Order: sequence, then C-alpha cells, then structure tokens
Amino acid sequence: IAPSNEDSVDLVPKMPHFSHTPTPYNGPSASDLLKRRKVYLPTCLGPFYTHPLNLVEGKMQYVFDENGRRYLDAFGGIATVSCGHCHPDVVEATVNQTRLLQHTTVLYLNHAVVDFAEALAAKLPRELEAVFFTNSGTEANELALMIARLYTGYHDIISIRNGYHGNATSTMAATAQFFHKFNVVQTGIHHALNPDPYRGVFGSDGVKYANDVQDIIDYGTCGHVAGFIAEAIQGVGGVIELAPGYLPAVYSIIKKAGGLFIADEVQTGFGRTGSHFWGFEEQGIVPDIVTLAKGIGNGAPIGAVVTTPEIAKVLTYSNYFSTFGGNPVCTAAGLAVLRAIEKDKLQYNAFVVGSYIKERLSSLMEKHEIIGDVRGRGMLLGVELVQDRQSKTPAKSEMLKITEHMKDMGVLIGKGGFHGNVLRITPPLCFTKEDAGC
Ligand code: PLP
Repeated sequence: IAPSNEDSVDLVPKMPHFSHTPTPYNGPSASDLLKRRKVYLPTCLGPFYTHPLNLVEGKMQYVFDENGRRYLDAFGGIATVSCGHCHPDVVEATVNQTRLLQHTTVLYLNHAVVDFAEALAAKLPRELEAVFFTNSGTEANELALMIARLYTGYHDIISIRNGYHGNATSTMAATAQFFHKFNVVQTGIHHALNPDPYRGVFGSDGVKYANDVQDIIDYGTCGHVAGFIAEAIQGVGGVIELAPGYLPAVYSIIKKAGGLFIADEVQTGFGRTGSHFWGFEEQGIVPDIVTLAKGIGNGAPIGAVVTTPEIAKVLTYSNYFSTFGGNPVCTAAGLAVLRAIEKDKLQYNAFVVGSYIKERLSSLMEKHEIIGDVRGRGMLLGVELVQDRQSKTPAKSEMLKITEHMKDMGVLIGKGGFHGNVLRITPPLCFTKEDAGC
C-alpha cells in the first residue's frame, strides 16, 4: 500500500547533506574529447547537448565536470543510478568482489551470484523465483521473448507502440517507435495501439485500447500468441502512464490466447515509481516473466529475467549461455543496491519527493502554456512540451534550449517521447526536496 504523503514524512530519512571537494582532474579537456569522440565513437543519437559535458566524478545525486563544477543529476544516468552515484556501500561491495574474484561463469558456484538471485526472488511474488542474469535490459528482453516462444510453442509477440524494449533483433522489432527507422523487421511482432491518456485515440479508456490487442490476435495470428511485453510506465516513450484498466484487461486477453505476460521493469522496477517496488504491482497483476536492468546495478552492467520454475525449464545448458551474465562483481553490486534501497528507505523517498516535484511541476502549468502535460510517478516523471494546449503540437525546438539552459544552471535532465518533446526527470532516488528547488 502506498504511503500517504503525510505518513511518509517521518519515514523518509533526511538525506545526508554533504559537501564534496572534487578530485583535481588533469585529463584531456571536453573539447579535445569531443573532437576524438566524433572520430572514434560516432553516435547516431544526435545532439542531446550542443556542448556535452566531460563528467569526471559522481557523488550521490551530483556529478562533477572537469572544472570541478557540480551538477544535480536529474536524469540519473538515464534512470539507472538508483541509490546514488558511487554510493559507498555499492562501491565497497564492488571493490571487495573485484579483489576476490572478478569473473566466473555459471559453470561454477559463487555466493555473490546466488545471494543476489535469492534476494531478487524475495522481492517478487512467490512464484517468480527462477533468475537468469544478463548484461543489459536488451538482453533480458531478448531472453524473455525467446522463453515465451519456447514455452508456449507459439511465435507471435504483441508489444505496445511507443514502448521501448532494447536494441537487438527481437527487442528492436518490438520497439515500434524506432524499428522502422532501422529496418529491423521480424515476423510475428505486432504493435498494439498506445494506451496514452494524453494523445491516444481513446483517451483514458484502458479497456478500449485493450480491445485492439484482441483484434490483433483475431486478425493477425492463429488465435494464440507467445506473449505480450510492456512497461507499466513507458520511459523512453515519454513517461506515459498507461490508461487505467489497460494492463489487467490485456492480461486476461493474453492468458486466453495462451501467451505469457512479460513485465519490462527495466525503468519501473527497484522502487523508482515510489508507491510500489515494481511497476506491475500498481496494476494488480502478476506477470509470468519480469525483466530488469538499469537501476538494479546502479550503473554496473547487469540485467535479469525472473520467471516461474515451471517456465524456466525451457532453458537448458544446450540452448542458453551467457559469458558475463551473472558476473560476481555485478551481482555483488546488485545486492548492495538492493540493501541500500532498503536501508536508506529510497522507495519512500522516491514517493514523497517525487510526488512533491510532480505537484510543483503541475502548478507551473498555470504560468507556462508550453507545458501540455505533467505525468509519471515517484522519480519517473515527464513534462510534455507543446506549442499550444489545444493543438498539442509538439514543442520540439524548445527542448534543446531548455536542456542547455538547465545545464548552465547546474541541472542535468533527460528528454524523450515519440516526438522528442518530453522532459524526463529520473534522478537517483536519494534526490531531496532541496534538490528539487522547493
Ligand atoms: N527496456 C526499457 C524499458 C528501457 O528503458 C531500456 C533502455 O532504455 C531497455 C529495455 C534496454 O536496456 P539496455 O539499454 O540496458 O539494453
């Protein structure tokens, strides 16, 4: 049950107020790095910033550039730094494990791997206890789709337009907002209408959008599907909270069609939404497969797929192997992150401070016509910018100006959405009201 704003004030620990003297930096300058990056690390993402920062150090919700200037990280390494940059407990666990044994594989036993798998399972509904570790969210989702196909014997997968699930073959194909740009077409992937209360054709009527999933099954498949994959709140897609009632309605449709329900918790998991530890809990459903990454490692490259022992049987040594999946340094980091979230009461903090930020952002709508919508939960928040609220024409050109201006003010923020006009606020969960400027 979500804590009420008032109840939780006492539960929220006062986040430590610290002053940090940045370590002197003698490395190459930002302009030198940018010049070399253009040659050796060409990026297809386009300019996020006209002048990207050279970040050299991180401390909880702050990062520091080459000149020792401090920035509030309101993007959290793209919703990845959950308990804070270089959280002392995570650093200690990672360093200790690195000193002891940096790598092993599933061919051998190691307690750091088993301990984290057990701790993860304990945070999930009882039937979800079989864990497979991966190195990223993409791999976790690829594996989940493969498991669904192997277990059901069916091929068709349904995802939602505007969801984001990764950048390998099946996951990119399931990511409708991008796949056409990269020509990643795979048979048997279907994109359902986006249940977006702000821009969607059926407004907030979740059941009407769910009917589209039934139509896809009726008209586009043999009547059975391997599975359905969705985020409880679409992150990259522009922090879209799915229309109420949508996921429970889709859940029954998918079950009737013999498919598995895959909850992509890469952004919504690990307490980020504040009211619940997992995004799917808000919807009152128990998925067959849960996929994780980003925040579970606080920056360590680790992902996971968690499912039931029965479903897990489809994977064997002969059809699945990952060299790095379940690396002990990453799992040691993961366990330390989980413990830090519990110890520092970061889920409650995300709820209270996140609600506060959302309220303050919503109140800005009175003054600023450019704000079309404020949405999200906990520390997964979005502000959609429009030219005017009537037409909802995306205010795209303003985005770069805003992110640059905020950077100059010492705040790093994200952007996203199909039209690229949504400011994304996904700070480390230790963000305070003071950080929010309130
Ligand atoms: N799923 C969701 C919901 C994501 O937001 C992302 C990345 O942004 C992914 C999957 C892919 O994760 P990764 O970038 O670790 O491969």
